[in-house]
Amino acid sequence: MVKELPVVFLQAAACSGCAVSMLNTLSPTIKDVLIDQLVPGVHINLRFHPVIMAASGEIAIKALEDTAREKKDGYVLVVDGAVPINEGYGMLGERNGKPVSMAQRVAELAQSAMAIIAIGTCASFGGIAAAKPNPSGSVSVRQFLENKGIDKPLINVPGCPPHPDWFIGTVSDVVLHGMPAAEALDEFLRPKLFYGKLIHENCPRRAYFDEGKFAKKPGEEGCLYELGCKGPITYADCPTRHWNSGTNWVIGAGAPCNGCTQPEFPDSTSPFYQKLVDVELPQIGAYWAAGKEAK
Ligand code: SF4
Ligand code: SF4
Repeated sequence: MVKELPVVFLQAAACSGCAVSMLNTLSPTIKDVLIDQLVPGVHINLRFHPVIMAASGEIAIKALEDTAREKKDGYVLVVDGAVPINEGYGMLGERNGKPVSMAQRVAELAQSAMAIIAIGTCASFGGIAAAKPNPSGSVSVRQFLENKGIDKPLINVPGCPPHPDWFIGTVSDVVLHGMPAAEALDEFLRPKLFYGKLIHENCPRRAYFDEGKFAKKPGEEGCLYELGCKGPITYADCPTRHWNSGTNWVIGAGAPCNGCTQPEFPDSTSPFYQKLVDVELPQIGAYWAAGKEAK
């Protein structure tokens, strides 16, 4: 017997980057996720996904509305992008000949869902969609649900975009073990499994930081702090997981982390190539060398 898990994937104020990143999943492959079984015995029944579904127009909207009605409290709602609340921003289909706002769709689908997963930093924290001056009045999914008084289990999977493993791993974990216990998530509702450690803690350039050897331009040897690296305030497992099927990651390629998994991104982690804070930095190597010269 193969169990079906209905999933609705909505794109609100989003760029499609998170949806496309998800397609790069290596293990399981996207074919396993969408067509075969995500984990043994469970098939994802993806009922609505703007980027990859074949249906469009009324057929697609009908699938969306039927899911909310027929699978009440039995499907997972994935929201990609922040939720725009100002009038005129974000519409999804029509009802009785009138456009339905994205905010209304998110509210209706969240109310009937079993659980909600916010994919990407815009959905998790507002991100780029809610960056100043935010003309659409976009808010994070968490903020939106709180404003509407909708109390449903929520997991945030931030990243700009998130690593495919962070999203597929989170969905698989929910399928295998149910919604995570409160202690498995951090204060920002991120799974500690993927976001439990600072980039800076596991960075292979950390020894350069301690020694006080800083790169002066991208690609140079040394710690990238002076070039704007936000690794010291950013929680994610990029240093050990790597990107593009394990090929490399941004600091490995000589460019600074811009803090994309943080609630502060992008307003407070930019300018991306500017030093985070101007504090005195460790220079153990230089102090040692200076001490030896003095002797
Ligand atoms: S500042 Fe950035 S490059 Fe330097 S050790 Fe920390 S994470 Fe690595
Ligand atoms: S290294 Fe930093 S900017 Fe790059 S994906 Fe990881 S958290 Fe985001």
